[in-house]
Amino acid sequence: MKTILITGGAGFIGSHVVREFVLKYPAYKIINLDALTYAGNLENLKDIEDLPNYHFIKADIVDAKQVLEIFEKHQPEGVIHLAAESHVDRSITNPLEFVMTNVIGTVNLLNAAKHSWKGKYEGKRFHHVSTDEVFGALGDEGFFTETTKYDPHSPYSASKASSDHFVRAYHDTYGLPIVLTNCSNNYGPNHFPEKLIPLCIHNILNNKPLPIYGDGKYTRDWLFVIDHAKAIDLVFHEGKNGDSYNVGGFNEWKNIDLVKELCKQMDEKLGRPLGTSEQLITFVKDRPGHDLRYAIDATKMNKELGWKPSVTFEEGLSITIDWFLANQKWLDNVTSGDYQNYYNNQYSH
Ligand code: NAD
Repeated sequence: MKTILITGGAGFIGSHVVREFVLKYPAYKIINLDALTYAGNLENLKDIEDLPNYHFIKADIVDAKQVLEIFEKHQPEGVIHLAAESHVDRSITNPLEFVMTNVIGTVNLLNAAKHSWKGKYEGKRFHHVSTDEVFGALGDEGFFTETTKYDPHSPYSASKASSDHFVRAYHDTYGLPIVLTNCSNNYGPNHFPEKLIPLCIHNILNNKPLPIYGDGKYTRDWLFVIDHAKAIDLVFHEGKNGDSYNVGGFNEWKNIDLVKELCKQMDEKLGRPLGTSEQLITFVKDRPGHDLRYAIDATKMNKELGWKPSVTFEEGLSITIDWFLANQKWLDNVTSGDYQNYYNNQYSH
């Protein structure tokens, strides 16, 4: 049985990656290592937590000794590393926390893999999951490719850029078998409601303002989270050793247009007159260092690995809204903080 260690598996994207691997590969032992910060929610994995190939370990990747012990004990052949501090606004108020988890935590994992694999790299793989934000900002034209120069602007993207460099450095210096994926903005079920789409869904349901930075012209590429999980599966298994892959939806939206589409779908689904939700849109003071536009060229994923998004944005958004409407308890638990009791109730007896 192959053992795969997935870090950050209780988070938004990590929970979809864990579910994809646990269900698709019953012969793998999947270990979810997560510190359960405010962003970690084991309720995200309720449907698979009793399956025999799923295991959870509560641990902090900043603790080098603990990370090494986990590697020594479980001897994972593969690592898919998603654990991170991931919210740009939080990185502006507390950059050091981002350095600790995203940089030091990543180096701790690299060291543990290097130490436990001892140069026997056949069948081993370290997959680092990163963001398109490392490339900086684009003007009205052009796309990020795998060879675009790094130019991070926020403490979050600087910490992710640094972790990407360390992952490549361990490949170049010690021969560690690595792959990287740099993905655009994800959306979908289990998305923490501090991010734009779930925040707007939550606020529409509670008749609260929909805050939009600046003039709303910031442009992002959006990808349905399950398509990201499938891309990670492909790159983990078939990506070329040492390579990085850009993952994106070929799906650019200005924030204001995206929120208007969301408002339209919410009005339709809630049976309200069109335009009701849009009245909640409120423009707020811009975020410092805000990047104007990100856009991913995912041609390499498509040409080399045959990957492409399985849903259009309108379809993915509709699935997402339906999920949030059907799981309002999840949303209430997250916004009230109750979700943090899940671990205590399920695991600590
Ligand atoms: P998230 O914030 O929802 O989840 C992060 C998870 O990591 C949480 O479960 C948290 O408990 C865990 N974690 C945080 N610090 C930890 C630590 N010190 N030790 C162990 N676990 C810790 O993040 P996400 O949005 O799911 O993003 C996952 C990864 O994908 C991140 O590396 C992020 O940079 C990357 N990414 C995210 C997006 C996006 O749109 N959300 C896009 C591209 C790449």
